[in-house]
Amino acid sequence: MNDDDKRLLRIAYNEAKLGFEEGGCPIGSVLARGAEIVSQGRNQRVQKGDPIAHGEMDALRKAGRQKTYRDTTLYTSLSPCMMCTGTILQFGIPRVVIGENKNFGGNEEFLRSKGVEVLIANDEDCIELMTKFINEKPELWAEDIAE
Ligand SMILES: [Zn+2]
Repeated sequence: MNDDDKRLLRIAYNEAKLGFEEGGCPIGSVLARGAEIVSQGRNQRVQKGDPIAHGEMDALRKAGRQKTYRDTTLYTSLSPCMMCTGTILQFGIPRVVIGENKNFGGNEEFLRSKGVEVLIANDEDCIELMTKFINEKPELWAEDIAE
């Protein structure tokens, strides 16, 4: 992880924190082209009643149409679910920086097997925020991961 990665992951974390304060699932995401932010977003499932609006999906929707994703990195405070993993592959995003995969994970190797560079920060703040959310709102979390 370089300094831009750390800075952009922090912005994804701040999005996650905003989501927590809104009563939603605290997962934030940033789409960047090099050091430059294309878009940022956060899980909107509770806020908008949209089950597909995961953090990554929200950021990608806000980015609008892109001619290519081949020069982008997707940052996410929490390891991507299968829906978001599929979208990363569908869009050809070559690089993903993950805040943490202690609270949720499992698709990292699948992404790597498809040629995606995957970096895992093991960020203490990301872990702590997600752990707090899971402990405080276990039903909401269970709904998010369809359990
Ligand atoms: Zn997802």
